[in-house]
Amino acid sequence: MASSGVDKQRNRRLSDHRGPARRALWAAAIYIAVGLVWIVFSDRLVEAWFADPGTLSRLQTWKGLLFVVVTGAVLFLATLRQFHKDRKLLDLQYNQRQALRRRERQLSVLMDNLPGMAYRCRFDEHWTMLFVSQGCERLTGYLPGDLVRNARISFAELIADPQSGQKVMEEVRTAVGNREPFSIEYPLIRKDGRQIWVWERGRGVEDDDGEMLLEGIILDISDRKALEDELEELATRDPLTGLYNRRESSRLLEEELERARRYNRPLALLWVDFDHFKEINDTHGHAAGDSVLKSVSQLLEDSVRSVDSVGRFGGEEFVIILPEMAVREAHETAERLRQRVSGQRYPLDGGAPVPMTISVGVAVYPDHGADAAMLCAAADRAMYEAKRRGRNCVVMAPDADADHNEQRGAGG
Ligand code: GH3
Ligand code: MG
Ligand code: MG
Repeated sequence: MASSGVDKQRNRRLSDHRGPARRALWAAAIYIAVGLVWIVFSDRLVEAWFADPGTLSRLQTWKGLLFVVVTGAVLFLATLRQFHKDRKLLDLQYNQRQALRRRERQLSVLMDNLPGMAYRCRFDEHWTMLFVSQGCERLTGYLPGDLVRNARISFAELIADPQSGQKVMEEVRTAVGNREPFSIEYPLIRKDGRQIWVWERGRGVEDDDGEMLLEGIILDISDRKALEDELEELATRDPLTGLYNRRESSRLLEEELERARRYNRPLALLWVDFDHFKEINDTHGHAAGDSVLKSVSQLLEDSVRSVDSVGRFGGEEFVIILPEMAVREAHETAERLRQRVSGQRYPLDGGAPVPMTISVGVAVYPDHGADAAMLCAAADRAMYEAKRRGRNCVVMAPDADADHNEQRGAGG
């Protein structure tokens, strides 16, 4: 389709070239024909009407002069007309060139001042750049010449990791296949080794030879990303301890429960409350209480697997979600945490380190509850039972393995 359009344009350009020569040939032929007709017929006419050789000779002279004047006038008018036409064409071309230059200037000012770079590249695995704007250096640290035709490095090599590279390729391929523009975000590694986040918007375009190219812009969105991360951090983390906040813990519990249900796997929930924590506040002050809260939180976080999540549910109450964990292992984990907490002392600003113990209630899906509310209630009740039994101990929610139900900690 595209190449037949190109052929038509080329043919039109060629016939434009042949036009003037053909017209000039026609003009010469008409001139010769008219001249011959004039010479032959006017001579015959004059000879038929006038017999006197003197008159004939004068008439021939005047006839010749008339021919020269008339053809001269016609030639003058035709040249003048052509001159006007050429002039108009030249003016038009000049104006078009000026407009083109103006547009090019505006475009290059616009491109150079983009907060990123504009590009045209091949749709290949290297993203071979055919053109990049000056913003390339600001964005990547490389000069346009380093990237164009992969002279020093290919754009694909700048993408931070293979997974991102794969994702970019898939999204671009889908969009180009659907003849739609694409809009993607991914991390890049700059020449100085710094990682930035970019947003790219582009589309597939066919060049004159029918090859699929990509054109678009790439902007640095690192600041926006950092702000988003910060907002997410604020929305999901507890500012004092850095653990998940209550809302995020609840969300994670729902998510993990959904997974446990789908794959028919167990899930354990630990409900942790510090023992006599108020006394720390009362004796050493609120700041000392905060400092103990932070230390114990850190200890809890460090004592679980990476798949587990520790959240601060409020005050000095914590929930720990343990995916893929059944009753026995959950109890052992809770007991291990209890022992680790009670096994050390916690430094205070300008005071002797203090001891701290925790009471832990344990509930397991599906044994003690089918949903988040039931599990939380069961674990909370078990924690209160641990308090009732004297604190610093682990209590499993009822209806679980009787062996594990009543194990008091050493210091409880
Ligand atoms: P129990 O063994 O029965 O749990 O006794 P407790 O003193 O720990 O009692 P409770 O759990 O009811 O009270 C928790 C106290 O924790 C009350 C409050 O003063 C304190 N607290 C809650 N949040 C914070 C906090 O962010 N910082 C500090 N320093 N103290 C807090
Ligand atoms: Mg408490
Ligand atoms: Mg409490």
